Amino acid sequence: MENNRLMIVVPCYNEQDVLNQSDERLRQLLSIMIDEGFVAQDSRILYVNDGSTDGTWNIIEQLTQQHPCVCGLKLAANVGHQNALMAGLEEAARLADIIVSIDADLQDDINVIPEMVANWRQGNDIVYGVRNRRDSDSWFKRNTALAFYRLMQRLGVRSVYNHADFRLMSRRAVEQLCRYRERNLFLRGVVPLVGYRSATVYYDRVARTAGESKYPLSKMINFAADGITSFSIKPVRMVLALGLIFILVALTMLVYVLVAYFGGHTVSGWASLMLSIWFVGGFILLGLGIVGEYIGKIYIEVKDRPRYNVEEKIIK
Ligand code: UDP
Ligand code: MG
Repeated sequence: MENNRLMIVVPCYNEQDVLNQSDERLRQLLSIMIDEGFVAQDSRILYVNDGSTDGTWNIIEQLTQQHPCVCGLKLAANVGHQNALMAGLEEAARLADIIVSIDADLQDDINVIPEMVANWRQGNDIVYGVRNRRDSDSWFKRNTALAFYRLMQRLGVRSVYNHADFRLMSRRAVEQLCRYRERNLFLRGVVPLVGYRSATVYYDRVARTAGESKYPLSKMINFAADGITSFSIKPVRMVLALGLIFILVALTMLVYVLVAYFGGHTVSGWASLMLSIWFVGGFILLGLGIVGEYIGKIYIEVKDRPRYNVEEKIIK
């Protein structure tokens, strides 16, 4: 038999308003895919309850009793979207060959999942779901998100434009992903590091049908800061550059101050004061930047990321 057992991983945090509805749609899709022989008979949906404080886990329990294809994973406390997703992926990699992750509100179009699987069949280990339009998001969310992707690119973080956590991964890709042991998890940035052949499918994102977004502005900012600081030490380089700029300014000031001094246009004490401010400021920044470089190195070391990932071996 072909190894094509699918598991759809869905992180859920206080999603009681939307869960039944989402489950209905996911199961329908899954049964169609199974009937068409697209995925294995024993394919599953895995709901990860991320320490919800409402009735989410009760609903998940009920669903697992009613439907053989539904599984549940209950985390002991709220650990956040990314970690909850990772818990689900790790579990799924033990059981399934194809793993799809999607948010519980199904704002991402589940109807492209068969297309993702088709891409997997063609030998892609990772298939990214990318949003075509963001009409359904508010003007603010749309623009802040776009600005964020741009900033990330500027800072040299490899991430897929307009892709959130709706993606398909093969088992070996998830296994590889599990080797990234970092605590500050930003999956969108880590997944591209895994490598392997990848493809993209496009879809239109729709509005949340029930419940509310679990990403208020404060969480969005934290998430963005996490993304940047986990992947880039460029901000530290900026301090270093700023230090150099200050010293350059100081040198220009030196010329200016000397001219003013010998021209006799200065009050006593001004020249030395001006020069000290710029030189001291410049050297402090330079020093901070140098220390920062080392901290950046330490940071990269402690993350202990895998150095490489073997895709194929031909050894005789
Ligand atoms: N989520 C989670 N733990 C959290 C916050 C969110 O598991 O602490 C889940 C949530 O249930 C949903 C997904 O992460 O499945 C994305 O959240 P949401 O749809 O609220 O984010 P948005 O689409 O507004 O960015
Ligand atoms: Mg959502």
